[in-house]
Amino acid sequence: MGQGVIVVGAGPGGMATAYLLAAHGLPVTLIEQEPQFDRVFRGEGLMPSGVQALIEMGLGDCLASIPTRKLDAWDFYVEGQRRMRVVEPWSQTGLPPTHIIHQSALLAAIAERAQALSNFQFFPGWQVRDLFHQGDRIIGVQATQNGETRDFTGDLVIAADGRYSRLRKLAGLSLTQAATQFDVLWFKLPAPADMLCETVFTVCLQQQRQFAFYPSWDDRLQIGWIVEKGQGKKMGDRDWIAEFAQALPPKLATHFQQHRADLVGPIFLDVMVGYAPQWSTSGLLLLGDAAHPMAPNRAQGINMALRDAIAIANHLVPWWQQGHTAATLPDCLTAIQVQRQPEITTAQKLQLEEWEKIALITASPLTYQPFQVLANALGRLGITQQAWLHQQRYLRYGLSPVTLQV
Ligand SMILES: Cc1cc2nc3c(=O)[nH]c(=O)nc-3n(C[C@H](O)[C@H](O)[C@H](O)COP(=O)(O)OP(=O)(O)OC[C@H]3O[C@@H](n4cnc5c(N)ncnc54)[C@H](O)[C@@H]3O)c2cc1C
Repeated sequence: MGQGVIVVGAGPGGMATAYLLAAHGLPVTLIEQEPQFDRVFRGEGLMPSGVQALIEMGLGDCLASIPTRKLDAWDFYVEGQRRMRVVEPWSQTGLPPTHIIHQSALLAAIAERAQALSNFQFFPGWQVRDLFHQGDRIIGVQATQNGETRDFTGDLVIAADGRYSRLRKLAGLSLTQAATQFDVLWFKLPAPADMLCETVFTVCLQQQRQFAFYPSWDDRLQIGWIVEKGQGKKMGDRDWIAEFAQALPPKLATHFQQHRADLVGPIFLDVMVGYAPQWSTSGLLLLGDAAHPMAPNRAQGINMALRDAIAIANHLVPWWQQGHTAATLPDCLTAIQVQRQPEITTAQKLQLEEWEKIALITASPLTYQPFQVLANALGRLGITQQAWLHQQRYLRYGLSPVTLQV
């Protein structure tokens, strides 16, 4: 038996990959810098393609065991008036619904499943600081915890350490960044009781205000306010309740005003979209946001990372079973990127196009006013709603099926 695989980062991508490889017999060491899964912010939207990926990995019961909400519809408000409602199509398609998930709970549930395997080791609270090499080949990582240093060696290092990936930089792999125009501010507010009867993702648009909210797994509203890139940290001391209220219908505006004291936030989140032209180098593979940082809109990042995990297992398990030699590893790693690249490229393109549309609509009264007229006239038509759903299909279901073949 070889030394196995070291996975760095226990976000959705790293955790799923570590579990899947261990479940197929590979010795796996998972290293995560945070001592606990709970942290200020974790993405919560899981599209049908992500739900399917969990089911494919045999983790459907982990999803069923955690707090979630299933999305019923999307509402689009312009100037405080609802202009379009799109009902989620899952009752007609038979495919799983979009879920709002308690991500920390999901990660904890998968970790518990993995820890039952004798070939899986988990090191929470250890931060990887360095890579080490044998000749040109990466053969391990060095991690620290409270001043203690430890070396981990393996046949392969998988860098699942997120969009700012230290390992990507240490390995000399570059990232091509897209010119994103937005960042996001997050807030929480108690939800009105009638908003908890169904789960609706609500988008609110005014020329100066673009935000969205939904009742989350904790029965509070999760609110995301779009800010121009780089402006988020300068906007902390606004009267946010007044800002929201101006773009809401009167009843909701009153609810926001009544809960002024309960508003949590803003939490500033820096959005990065990009793509590593090369996902691997000798002895190391990038995964999830480390390979392709995803924007938050239409909840793609968790889905893509989970689907990466399946592709990785499909290639690495046979490589391991066939003797796991260093000589055959590069082709195996390249094949993973080749398989995943088209879907990632498509999802990022569609995400960026959505943001570009908002930027165009709100750029000036010359574009915003015709948009208002069109939204008023067309939003209530079934054909417009179907067109929106059709345009969203790859973001919802992925570009093509990703199935576990091992
Ligand atoms: C504002 C915002 C909202 C978003 N909302 C959603 C959403 O609702 N749905 C969705 O699908 N996507 C969403 N995304 C995108 C999503 O968060 C990411 O695409 C997704 O988390 C990527 O998963 P990952 O496992 O690759 O990386 P991450 O989730 O970033 O996990 C990386 C892990 O590596 C650990 N780590 C980092 N460095 C080290 C180190 N040196 N040593 C050890 N451990 C390390 C980190 O602590 C972390 O746990 C959002 C993104 C943003 C910015």
